[in-house]
Amino acid sequence: EPRVLVAGAGKVYPDGLEAVAPLDLEFAGGSTTALVGPSGCGKSTLLRMIAGLEDPTSGSITIDGDSPHAVAERGELAVAFQDPSLLPWRSVRQNAALALTLTHREVDRAAIDRMIARVGLDGFGDARPAALSGGMRQRAAIARALITEPRLLLLDEPFGAVDELTRQDLIAELPPLWRERGTTALLVTHSISEAARIADRIIVLSPRPARVVADVPVPRGDA
Ligand code: ADP
Ligand code: ADP
Repeated sequence: EPRVLVAGAGKVYPDGLEAVAPLDLEFAGGSTTALVGPSGCGKSTLLRMIAGLEDPTSGSITIDGDSPHAVAERGELAVAFQDPSLLPWRSVRQNAALALTLTHREVDRAAIDRMIARVGLDGFGDARPAALSGGMRQRAAIARALITEPRLLLLDEPFGAVDELTRQDLIAELPPLWRERGTTALLVTHSISEAARIADRIIVLSPRPARVVADVPVPRGDA
């Protein structure tokens, strides 16, 4: 599993706003780490830099020695964000198949259907995202992310846009799917309680610009 190294990486946006102070962080392969902090503190910016969607303006980020761009290019990185960007005209199954095609993997219909069942969407493979509830769309987004067997999974408030009961279900059911695969995961959330239930390490960030104010392991009985 890949080790993620954040070496003095910081971000100042072109308008001069410093979103992330230069940070030194290391994430062990196979771990799930939650980045927690107040709204606007720079969590998403940090995650987007690790995803290679945004370049740091200082320092560097490597994933097992490679740039995030290189890892993403090889299709070894998957993201799931708060508002799942599923293609609306495509079924859940087609969305998963497209993820495989785009990451140069074989489209295995049986494997897709097994994954759809694992995330709790058995029988909804033919449904389009618009026909699904918010929680079901989050499940579909996780299925699409995991079907490519990414080495690194980046989640930005993946359970944020759903009602509280649905959220509890998603938190109980979905993280074990990437844990059991040994996928390295980074999760952004503003909820400490959500972080404690999902992650084995919690990093608390300060108000903008993001700095580390606490970095604590979470003992897990279920790991
Ligand atoms: P969080 O995820 O913790 O809510 P963000 O990383 O989204 O925080 O944003 C951190 C700060 O950077 C905010 O003040 C936000 O308005 C600002 N910001 C985010 N993206 C951009 C951008 N593309 N250009 C300029 N400022 C941005
Ligand atoms: P979050 O809190 O989940 O990061 P935001 O609502 O802060 O989401 O940001 C949503 C999008 O708007 C992001 O892509 C971010 O880069 C962009 N954004 C946020 N603040 C600014 C800003 N001040 N200038 C330009 N883009 C911004």
